[in-house]
This record gives sequence, C-alpha cells and structure tokens, in this order.
Amino acid sequence: MGQWVLDPRDVERMCSQAAEPRIWGLPAAEWRASGVIFLSRELAGLPLSQMVAVVAHECGHAVTRESEFTKRDGISSEWASELCADYHAFRWGFEKEIRAHAPFRSLAHHACLPGETISEAGREWRVDRWFHFRPVAGRREALPAPRPALPGAAPRSSARRR
Ligand SMILES: [Zn+2]
Repeated sequence: MGQWVLDPRDVERMCSQAAEPRIWGLPAAEWRASGVIFLSRELAGLPLSQMVAVVAHECGHAVTRESEFTKRDGISSEWASELCADYHAFRWGFEKEIRAHAPFRSLAHHACLPGETISEAGREWRVDRWFHFRPVAGRREALPAPRPALPGAAPRSSARRR
C-alpha cells in the first residue's frame, strides 16, 4: 500500500561530498538522504483510518535515524526497520490506527507491535513499549495464533498478540 524510497540522486550527492561520512561524525548517506513515499491507488479505497495508518507508517520509515535502527537490529534488519517506522507512528499519536491496520499489512511490512511476540530462528521474542525485541525466557518456538481474515487480505507474518 505504501513504500518509502530513498532518492538515489540525493544519496549519490551525499556520498560524493564525503568519501567516508563517518569520519566527519555524520551518519551514512542512506540515513540523511531525501526520498519519496509511494502510495498505492488501492489505498484510496480503504477507510480513512487505514489510509492514515499507512501514511503514518511510511513517514516513520522516512524519519528513522541510524541510531534508532541499530538499537532495534539484531534479529533481522527487516524487523528493525518496521519496528522503527511503527515506533514513530505511535509516538505521533497513531497507535489506534496502526493497531487496527496491522492485521491487514503485507508481509513486506512485518507488523509486530508492543505486547506481541514473534518466533525467529527457533526463539521467541516480545516487543516492548519502546519497540525493542526482548527474548521471552524459557520459551522455544511458538505456533502462530490465527488472525481474523478479511476477503482479499494478505496473510500476516508469524507475529501474534499477547
Ligand atoms: Zn514498513
């Protein structure tokens, strides 16, 4: 439904300004470059709250900083990126919209919100209120709980609500 995409010309411009940005204490170009948010035409057919959820989530990707990503990385960079986007959307006051839209998100936008767990690499992790994965002690692989399905909705990842 939506996608944040870096502007490759801006990335190139920033890379050309400093061969190694970290030498100057700046984050890598991918964390500073501008970009655009692409929205699917299908989005216009959704209820307003779902449109808001998609746009808020994509804006969350756009403002994610390297340090935020790094703090949430470790299990999977895909999960870390999505956690950061939702963290910002929640911070801006769109928790209700994000939670309502989460069951219908595409697999590319892994949705695992505070209080939910995932199973990854044979371990179980729970998302805390700051959108960090915390290992669930004493639990091994868990089975995904069934989710309500809407006609035409893509199935979700193995995240489930606790
Ligand atoms: Zn996303």
